[in-house]
Amino acid sequence: MKLRCLDCERYWPFDPLRWCCACGSVVEIVGGSGFDPAGVDQGEHTMWRYGDALPMCRGGSAVTLGEGWTPLVDAEWADRPVRFKMESLNPTGSFKDRGAALLVTALRAAGAGQVVDDSSGNAGAALAAYAARAGVAARIFVPEHSSPAKRAQIAVYGAELVTVPGSRADTTSALLEAVDKGAVYASHAYSPLYAHGMKTIAFELWEQCGRRAPESIIVPVGHGGLFLGLHLGFRDLLSAGVIQDIPALYGVQAAACAPLVRAWERGSGEVEPVPEGDTVAGGVRIAAPPWGSCVLDAVRQSGGGLVALSDEATLSAQRRLARLGFYVEPTSALPVAALENLRARLSGSPVVVLTGNGLKSPPAPAEAR
Ligand SMILES: [Zn+2]
Repeated sequence: MKLRCLDCERYWPFDPLRWCCACGSVVEIVGGSGFDPAGVDQGEHTMWRYGDALPMCRGGSAVTLGEGWTPLVDAEWADRPVRFKMESLNPTGSFKDRGAALLVTALRAAGAGQVVDDSSGNAGAALAAYAARAGVAARIFVPEHSSPAKRAQIAVYGAELVTVPGSRADTTSALLEAVDKGAVYASHAYSPLYAHGMKTIAFELWEQCGRRAPESIIVPVGHGGLFLGLHLGFRDLLSAGVIQDIPALYGVQAAACAPLVRAWERGSGEVEPVPEGDTVAGGVRIAAPPWGSCVLDAVRQSGGGLVALSDEATLSAQRRLARLGFYVEPTSALPVAALENLRARLSGSPVVVLTGNGLKSPPAPAEAR
């Protein structure tokens, strides 16, 4: 197992502490064991049932709070069947727990005693929780516009919270100063381990759909860790010969900050940064995603697409979802809102990943009606 720079093609032995290349590009994990259906631990009802297919955990002890193996729930949306993958039910209330569990497991094994990350909330909460579980100190940099509920959640796990004025990009700059001074960057945005944690969602969907791949999957996309993780996981399943095709993967961004959608619409393979517009979908407010060109490749390879939606459509979908009993945060309502835009392209029963719990950013009581 090695690390490879996506830009200049340098290689290193696998090292969880390396989060990017000297050239500034992200690095990917190459090699590794792949997926073997015989390796699934049927007695383990967490994401670690796929431990054999994950990098760096064979023989090591996982840092776990019981993440993964979330329900797949049948529902209807606009008179069409849909299945919701309930990532909002993970230990800290979001899908980020899968990436954080794998990353903290690897960093603890590499001897890290203190970690830092920059996050709009969910990744920070997940890192704070898993660091607490592992006995590792955490310092989380958050933009001042992030939800007070999310900031409180990070602090309650015992992490040091650093609130940074200005944009999301300003938060990253403040974090990088700390990294330059020697802090271990447990990056949900850069670390290739994050997407490998997310690929366990693909393995679960394969099992939950009767050892078949669903036809299509729709997710919110900011950095693209979830999107790339699904693509990695289904590619592993394809290589293992247990599926014939990977699902069409659709990513949804907020119109106010949609660099991937802009590149997709231009037909470009490269993502240009966009101005960071304000949006209720704070989890996808990412103006310059470092894995952007990989996300575009994954969209193309899967036969899916990318769309951007207004805050109005997102909030409307969030309210309608709650009236069906599903309470999610606005970012998680984006892909549900997109079901209507994508209607003509979707057949069968698409899977929508409900990424984060509604308790993360509750509306004021007057707005909840
Ligand atoms: Zn490089």
